[in-house]
Amino acid sequence: MARAEQSNAHNVRGIINLLGEEIANRDDARTAKDEYLTILKALDSRKTQSCISIKPTQLGLGIEKSFFKTNLAEILSNAKSLRNFVWVDMEGSPYTADTIESYLEFRKKFDNIGVAIQAYLKRSEDYVSRILDSGGAIRLCKGAYNESPEIVYKGKKDIDRNFSKLMRMMFERGRGFAVATHDEKLIQEATHLSNIHHADFEFQMLMGIRDKKKLELVEEGYRVSEYIPFGNSWWPYSVRRIREHKSNIFLLVRSLLSG
Ligand SMILES: Cc1cc2nc3c(=O)[nH]c(=O)nc-3n(C[C@H](O)[C@H](O)[C@H](O)COP(=O)(O)OP(=O)(O)OC[C@H]3O[C@@H](n4cnc5c(N)ncnc54)[C@H](O)[C@@H]3O)c2cc1C
Repeated sequence: MARAEQSNAHNVRGIINLLGEEIANRDDARTAKDEYLTILKALDSRKTQSCISIKPTQLGLGIEKSFFKTNLAEILSNAKSLRNFVWVDMEGSPYTADTIESYLEFRKKFDNIGVAIQAYLKRSEDYVSRILDSGGAIRLCKGAYNESPEIVYKGKKDIDRNFSKLMRMMFERGRGFAVATHDEKLIQEATHLSNIHHADFEFQMLMGIRDKKKLELVEEGYRVSEYIPFGNSWWPYSVRRIREHKSNIFLLVRSLLSG
């Protein structure tokens, strides 16, 4: 929360994520849910400009879909009463279909929910189309899990090409969406599309990555949010970041040293 408040001072909003995924027992999932309720209450009382981002398997999707939905419904109702927003992270492919289906179901009842879509996934165009039809909010990212080439594009060129295609669809038909990348070329492309379509969108980046760029975009008048993960279950998140960019090992060391 302190980090979100530091970012707020520079007009960057926070997206708080409690680290944790693939939770295997119900008590741990309920604890994660309760932690998010506490965070939402604290954000409201401190007037911190930040939403939250949850992982489906952290709330029990890997245990039972209805159990996950019960937990998410409680978070969404709370967030709605506090006029806050909930992003649903997209995890590995075994959970994609259930996450999308749950999202579309919740979207009928809640307007304070968005979902991440991975540009490396070959099926994502269909998902983007369905979510845009529902009036839903998409966070477009490249995708961070190690998947088979049958279901994902593997090369940077192909992933970037699909990212551009999906981003164009969002600018043409979407609102309240997020362009989540640190990639200069794609950020430039988004600013270009924004000049044409004047869509309601924001840039999202991870904490500690391209901090200067975040401020430059704010200066240019764009809305920017920063994804702030915290908590004890930092290993899988850190492995994904280091696989993407070797220099992210310094981010990890810095976080560990600062406690
Ligand atoms: C807000 C947010 C939420 C996300 N949510 C999800 C999710 O729900 N599910 C999911 O699968 N993935 C998620 N991701 C991760 C995402 O899918 C990518 O794995 C990750 O963002 C790296 O991709 P990239 O767009 O930065 O491009 P890359 O191709 O990894 O990097 C492109 C360029 O960005 C610059 N760059 C990247 N990292 C650094 C760095 N550390 N320092 C300096 N420059 C750098 C470099 O110039 C690099 O060439 C999220 C990412 C963000 C930003």
